Amino acid sequence: ADTLLEVKGLKTQFISDKSRIPAVDGVDFNIHRGETLALVGESGCGKSITSLSIMRLIPENGKIVEGKIVFEGEDLTKKSEEEMYHIRGNDIAMIFQEPMTSLNPVLSIGEQLTEGIILHQKLTKQQARSRAIEMLKLVGIPRAEEIMDEYPHQLSGGMRQRIMIAMAMSSNPKLLIADEPTTALDVTIQAQILELMKELKEKFDTSILLITHDLGVVAEMADRVVVMYAGQVVEEADVHTLFEKPAHPYTEGLMKSVPTLEKEQKRLYSIRGIVPSPDEFPKGCRFAPRCDQAMEECLHAQPDLYEIDAGHVVRCFLHKTKEREAKA
Ligand code: SF4
Ligand code: MG
Repeated sequence: ADTLLEVKGLKTQFISDKSRIPAVDGVDFNIHRGETLALVGESGCGKSITSLSIMRLIPENGKIVEGKIVFEGEDLTKKSEEEMYHIRGNDIAMIFQEPMTSLNPVLSIGEQLTEGIILHQKLTKQQARSRAIEMLKLVGIPRAEEIMDEYPHQLSGGMRQRIMIAMAMSSNPKLLIADEPTTALDVTIQAQILELMKELKEKFDTSILLITHDLGVVAEMADRVVVMYAGQVVEEADVHTLFEKPAHPYTEGLMKSVPTLEKEQKRLYSIRGIVPSPDEFPKGCRFAPRCDQAMEECLHAQPDLYEIDAGHVVRCFLHKTKEREAKA
């Protein structure tokens, strides 16, 4: 398939005098043109830092210490701040969880939308205004002309997220990074926003990197899935394979934690224990302290990624054995 973005051996660390915290610890994945790739895991697994590394917007003290981020053949880790500013305004756009969106409370919707468009697209004020109104209509905002003169607090969370999407898509980006875009919204609005993202993805032929802890959202949106745990990829598969044949004990645990009608009566399953903090990763398999299937070797050595089927890779010793048996 045609690769748009290739993340290779990415390591992002938070460095201080006293410590080096490996938030992202050797991550590999590709995003093909036109596909939606979901990056999944509990909070604290390194998903957001991975996406912020791609945008080169890592918080203070954070640094990409190793690896490549190849976007359309060019390594973003080698770009200047100015080049990255240009790429963020044109080729890669990002939206976040609604309360954290960067709508400015003191500027009207119109001012914010046109400002971004003028800055990055070299249009006149009048052209930018038309473009902004066109984008608002495209994301399903009624009374687009009037909304231009309103302020963020006058609008609902769902409307604000639509405006963020309008802003992100106004430059016709090749890649949209969406970090928990619907987590703060109620279920009905969430479904509408996901539907909107799907429509725009088709219309603009955009690839999406979707960061979420919600497997319902994954099932709805993703073509392929990368599961992250403790700064590493632990499983990668196409979405059908992942739901039908999850192979990593962590992925299986995530699957079992999803509420369904059937399970509603019983107590919902949750994986015991918590995600280890990056300054205290276990020495062996990082999931071992929470894994019901942990074996002696899991406590001492780190599993590699084993390919158990075409396009299906798993970081778990259980599958190393299977692979060996299959080959023998
Ligand atoms: Fe569990 Fe061992 Fe597999 Fe880690 S390597 S997930 S501890 S079985
Ligand atoms: Mg996050």
